[in-house]
Amino acid sequence: MTKKVFNFCAGPAMLPQPVMQLAQQQLVNWNDMGVSVMEISHRSKDYIAVAEQAEKDLRDLMGISEDYSVLFMHGGGRGQFAAVPMNLLGAGEEADYVLTGSWSKSAFTEGQKYGQINLAADTYVNDAGERSVLPFEQWQLSDKAQYVHYCPNETVDGVEFNYIPEVDKPLVADMSSCILSQEIDVSKFGIIYAGAQKNIGPSGLAIAIVRKDLIGKANGFTPSIYDYAVQAQNDSMFNTPPTYAWYLAGLVFKWLKEQGGVAAVQKINEQKAAHLYNFIDSSEFYSNQVAKQYRSKMNVPFMLKDEALNAKFLAQSEQAGLLALKGHRSVGGMRASIYNAMPLEGVETLVNFMQDFAQKNG
Ligand SMILES: *Cc1c(COP(=O)(O)O)cnc(C)c1O
Repeated sequence: MTKKVFNFCAGPAMLPQPVMQLAQQQLVNWNDMGVSVMEISHRSKDYIAVAEQAEKDLRDLMGISEDYSVLFMHGGGRGQFAAVPMNLLGAGEEADYVLTGSWSKSAFTEGQKYGQINLAADTYVNDAGERSVLPFEQWQLSDKAQYVHYCPNETVDGVEFNYIPEVDKPLVADMSSCILSQEIDVSKFGIIYAGAQKNIGPSGLAIAIVRKDLIGKANGFTPSIYDYAVQAQNDSMFNTPPTYAWYLAGLVFKWLKEQGGVAAVQKINEQKAAHLYNFIDSSEFYSNQVAKQYRSKMNVPFMLKDEALNAKFLAQSEQAGLLALKGHRSVGGMRASIYNAMPLEGVETLVNFMQDFAQKNG
């Protein structure tokens, strides 16, 4: 028996237990072939069936229409920071980037290698000193922008949009840490992309959901493996895709369907976040520095009243089987990442621990 733990790591993050167990069962003898799924050709009919089923399940889960290609690519979220401008910006063309925290800032910085990237909105702290989103009316959107890029959920800062910006350009969203966590209307987006290791599967894989009219404009210097047209024409198999990660993503999609799909996990995600934030707000001992309406339901950063207790909190929480609660170095304090795979029980156990720790150290 492995010991019971809850893993709050921001990424690579925990995956659903039943998925890990199934993967373990199938590891050395998949489909009764006597080999692992990672040891067979990506062009074999058995593997192609896995790949196609994963795409179909993702399309069902998110309601992705035939107007979009679904690409399974290499290079994680950051690979897409480069792929998006390389695919959408010709020489001298511009794009608008909205900054709300560290990941959108990284996308902005990377984008500058490939085109003129405008700062449409900078990271924003409101009058109360809380991390927030610059009000939409104050964004500086350019008429010449080919697209508008933003990050609906900032994994490090714990800032999440509670709306989809209405812009008259293709909207590009880095959903690495919130994809499949709540229902969204895909048709509002030009491109949705996500590194897999938060809500989908193992790291390295990235999923790009690209509206078909945006495909085929890649700049000439774009590496073929990052060219959406090349990948779309080759069913994401221009080169050898990350086959095991793709297979595992497929198992996660199946698991999500068994849970009742995105609407059902969204309900649980809302309960989990409400339970944790309500406790933090009711406590004198803990605090969260994000404006209430923009609090992330996936990544909950929090501070202890006395920072000198951080090391003790981390040591004791780990002892209690609550792993990886250390906050990102740029924010400090703690962070609990509570993606789809985290059960409500994990958040309840965390809150009980936090309550107990506050009583003993308050
Ligand atoms: C984790 C993360 C990334 C980076 O993903 P990599 O796979 O490490 O490149 C990008 N954007 C967001 C929002 C993330 O959470």
